[in-house]
Amino acid sequence: MKQTRFGAATLAALLLAPRLPAAEAPPLGFTPEGADAQRALEARFDALLEARNLRTWMERLSARPHHLGSAWGKQNADFIAGLFRAWGYDTRIEEFYVLMPTPKERRVELVAPTRFVASLEEPALAEDKTSGQKKEQLPTYNAYSADGDVTGELVYVNWGVPADYEELALRGIDVKGKIVIARYGGSWRGIKPKVAAEHGAVGCIIFSDPAGDGYSQGEVYPKGGFRPDAGVQRGSVKDMPISSGDPLTPGVAATKDAKRLSIAEATTIAKIPVLPISAADARPLLVALGGPMAPESWRGALPMTYRLGPGPARVHLKLAFNWDTATAYDVIATLRGAERPDEWIVRGNHHDAWVNGASDPVSGLVGLLEEARAVGELAKGGFRPKRTLVYAAWDGEEEGLLGSSEWVEAHMDELEAKAVAYINSDSNSRGFLDLGGSHSLETFVNQSLADVQDPAKKLGVLVRSRARTLLNGSPDERKQARASKGVHLEPLGSGSDFTPFLQHAAVASLNIGYGGEGDYGQYHSIYDSFDHYTRFMDPDFSYGLALARTGGRLALRLAQADSLPFDFGPLATAIEGYLDEVRVLADRMREETDQRNKDLEAGTFTAYFTPYETRVAPPRQEPVPRLNLAPLENAVDRVKKAVTAFEQARTSRADRPLTAERARELDSVLRGCERALSSQEGLPGRPWYRHQIYAPGRYTGYGVKTLPGVREAIELRNWREAEEQAVVVGHTLEGFAAEVDRATEILRKP
Ligand SMILES: [Zn+2]
Repeated sequence: MKQTRFGAATLAALLLAPRLPAAEAPPLGFTPEGADAQRALEARFDALLEARNLRTWMERLSARPHHLGSAWGKQNADFIAGLFRAWGYDTRIEEFYVLMPTPKERRVELVAPTRFVASLEEPALAEDKTSGQKKEQLPTYNAYSADGDVTGELVYVNWGVPADYEELALRGIDVKGKIVIARYGGSWRGIKPKVAAEHGAVGCIIFSDPAGDGYSQGEVYPKGGFRPDAGVQRGSVKDMPISSGDPLTPGVAATKDAKRLSIAEATTIAKIPVLPISAADARPLLVALGGPMAPESWRGALPMTYRLGPGPARVHLKLAFNWDTATAYDVIATLRGAERPDEWIVRGNHHDAWVNGASDPVSGLVGLLEEARAVGELAKGGFRPKRTLVYAAWDGEEEGLLGSSEWVEAHMDELEAKAVAYINSDSNSRGFLDLGGSHSLETFVNQSLADVQDPAKKLGVLVRSRARTLLNGSPDERKQARASKGVHLEPLGSGSDFTPFLQHAAVASLNIGYGGEGDYGQYHSIYDSFDHYTRFMDPDFSYGLALARTGGRLALRLAQADSLPFDFGPLATAIEGYLDEVRVLADRMREETDQRNKDLEAGTFTAYFTPYETRVAPPRQEPVPRLNLAPLENAVDRVKKAVTAFEQARTSRADRPLTAERARELDSVLRGCERALSSQEGLPGRPWYRHQIYAPGRYTGYGVKTLPGVREAIELRNWREAEEQAVVVGHTLEGFAAEVDRATEILRKP
């Protein structure tokens, strides 16, 4: 499906990721002697890792609910800071003052045709020792819902994404003045109330269908680990694709005296009231719906007939919140670099949870802590990293990446001057290594993790990860995996703390974590506990140790390389692929639009429609013109040339190491290359997002959009903007190519 437009098949093959070194060749950025020393360092690091630490810390950190603004959250921040200090890190806690709404009143009731009042409670379980900590648990709610008291007919909207409303329109159903009920999945949850409000709905209810993470996935808690009928997924509904961080201080740090928006001015707070409920609470509402059957792919696993409404179910939804300010406590621990202290490797995981959060985020955090402890031990034995290592435990991630975003905004100038890369982790479990991030780090990641073993399978974690793609990937992913020996880095959308680093500050970033083989039905509920984790996720913490090993490899190699191990071949290949996708998208839309308009003229829809239900033909669409993407196409050519020249220069330099001064000079250029992929103006309509290659989609949220400016303009049928964006992104890529040229020049110097 991917066409190569430039007759550059050989070049593309040459650029295909990854270039695993021949057995004797050292990894990128290392001399053969340096590589030997590095492997010795890593062996010492590995030998220091101990699973029982992870277990002890998880039990401690998840002992009580520790959401943003909670007493135990503060205690945890102090505890984590204490650990880092004991391990020899220069440690501080940075505070930010952020909007943290909590529910004052929550009510969902069916008022017609029958009456039912939703319980909105998750019951404690005897088998789960922290599930009864009612006094400290946040109730089930969506942070940054609007206040509201609304009554209306109910409509089932599937995931609640734009395509679902098109389906409803074909059945003559609109949601104006009504309350929608959407199931979890299909998008970031904040998209659901956003799209509902755009279509005129006055309220939004989100439920956990057992098809998603309940009994149709496996035994439910406490027998298995999947979501019980009364389990509820809390979560933020902030409009994350506009900006992450505190809703009242977009773009600036939420310090005490920061200029704040009023709540009414904050554009990322939901426009309508929205509440998550359990399958048990949803069922009576859904059963009361009449109207046509839901399309087949909309039906979940509740034992009932899925109907769309509207009505006769009428629902009353009442929500009121305390719009309080909470203090976010970010723990920042630094191990200063001996040779290049002004080059920072930042490694982070959040520490706040929705409730006890043993899995999310403590499972990832304890892996990071063990990694940092081992590095600290090495330092006590005399090791000093060349570059500075900064370990971070973020607060307020759950509400919208608050702690990390505010920290990035507060330290923007410093990050621009110093940041080399950011490595993120979050929840961890047993299973496959998931890798996402900047394509310029793809070769580095493959080289660094080649010897990390899957603890259960006793084979390389990369081998397993690649095997999964080969068997389960999309046709394109399989093809790509077959064409290379290594693992491809998934481009990052959003959903964890890498977003402010990658997409706002444009620091090269990675997201790492193991998972896919635990029973994952506790997400954002009171059942995400130590008891659940140690029964159904990673009972012996062996994958937690694998995470520590993985993070440690990446951090230590970035810290120690003679020159930064960035490789732009995989990036150039990826960008070329994204450009192809954008062209294919426009072509496909052109064909589909033509076809639809022809079918409308020919009466095809009317002929097909059932006479027994309302059916409405879709509107005629403006034909899709041929788009001029030449500025972008030319820029991609320019990038490929620059990258090839850089690689040739690096290869011919291999046996002549750079002087320390030149290596530093090269680092500073390489470091800036990711930033060259961003623009100060940001993306159309959402200037906080500056990266021009990766962003969360405006209507997907977590889901990534690559070349987002151009791609989303096409998706939204804004042809003029698509062409304007092709110029903007083209300029950005020309700037990036110029930076790569600068790096090449340094390599060519004597
Ligand atoms: Zn998390």
